[in-house]
Amino acid sequence: MYLLKPPEYGVEEFFDELLVGRHNNSKNQFLINRLSSIKSFLKDEQENYKELGGNKLLHTLKEHDTISIPTDAKLDDSISRTISAKEMEKVYSNFLVDEPDSIKIGRTAYDLILLNAYFNLCPYCSHREVKTVDHYLPKSKFPSFAITPVNLLPCCSDCNKDKLDNYNLKEDKMLIHPYFDDISDQDWLKCKVIDNIWPITFSYEVSDAIVDSVLKSRINNQFKLLNLNKLYADNATREFSKRVKSLVREYNSNPSNNALDFINDNLQSYQFENPNSWQTKMFEALKNSSWFMGTALPQLHSFYRV
Ligand SMILES: [Zn+2]
Repeated sequence: MYLLKPPEYGVEEFFDELLVGRHNNSKNQFLINRLSSIKSFLKDEQENYKELGGNKLLHTLKEHDTISIPTDAKLDDSISRTISAKEMEKVYSNFLVDEPDSIKIGRTAYDLILLNAYFNLCPYCSHREVKTVDHYLPKSKFPSFAITPVNLLPCCSDCNKDKLDNYNLKEDKMLIHPYFDDISDQDWLKCKVIDNIWPITFSYEVSDAIVDSVLKSRINNQFKLLNLNKLYADNATREFSKRVKSLVREYNSNPSNNALDFINDNLQSYQFENPNSWQTKMFEALKNSSWFMGTALPQLHSFYRV
């Protein structure tokens, strides 16, 4: 859950070029003609999206199955005056996603979304690698935003799937929007060492201290939906076992220091990068656990055989 800079280009900037050379025939009821008629509509909807996103009001948008073509558009009577969600989904798949090596404008727009991530980390889980593009508002329910850059986000495959299966547009269930919702000032993640369990095991949860109840509920929903407790806890257990040799060496070199220099050094490095990363919280938890510092630390060498 981290903030990303929104795309600097809008749908109107690649829209015309997107349609060049595409098939426009009776089989698809002259889709290109119909798409050409909704360029201004898509741009207006995009501006509306940005305004609502900035005011945390995206939950007020209404789901829709079709896009109506403006009445002043000149189309033959035989041509449908709507564009369905299925058609917009195809426009996204065929015109934007296209092929990875395509040099068409749509693929360029798609690649720019993929590249807009901090060290290639998925902005929903802040851990896994970006592999795909996610629609914050699903294209099947909001076809007006199927190809709108500000609705498209770099995402890992797991978050993309979990999110798809559990879509919810209630105000207190909306996922943190990586282009609009800055939660960097919130101390939102909590971690603790589970006492008397070997190997050293951690548990993660969302902090109770978040004052804004809607924000707290949204973060909690995202945490559960994406199974972040398990993702972070598994990684922390693995990370700890990789660090244990250094930890034991530090402890043995000066037992009265309780390896605090080592723990604090790591804590500060991770805190500097992200105060709410699972790594930051893992080192904080070690330091704050009286069972770990008093009982486990002096026995680490025997359990981990280092
Ligand atoms: Zn993810």
